[in-house]
Amino acid sequence: MYQVWKETEISAAHYLRDYGGKCENPHGHNWRVRVYVEADELDGSGMVVDFTVLKKVMEEVGDELDHKDLNSVPPFDSLNPTAENIARWFFERCSQRLTDGRARVSQVRVWETATSCAVYEER
Ligand SMILES: [Zn+2]
Repeated sequence: MYQVWKETEISAAHYLRDYGGKCENPHGHNWRVRVYVEADELDGSGMVVDFTVLKKVMEEVGDELDHKDLNSVPPFDSLNPTAENIARWFFERCSQRLTDGRARVSQVRVWETATSCAVYEER
């Protein structure tokens, strides 16, 4: 099993609903997003996935949230925009764009701060 990961960063505002703490107030984060891709076999070039391709996928997905008020972007207009929910959203969005049937997204990590990270993976 081979695995690679790539990171991107998005800047976005959010607030948490039904939380009862200071994160109920609008504030922003520079979210660091790391997407892991794995494959049992490498492609003809010896890669799990071309980093250039993965970068493009992550930028396309990230652009949907970058410099946005997350609470106004579906599904986060109803789903709380926590790091956990953002990680799952990235996982699903990136998975939809990697469709060669060989390389697949295996895990997404989203850092809300340098010391707080949420992980989503499907087992
Ligand atoms: Zn926050």
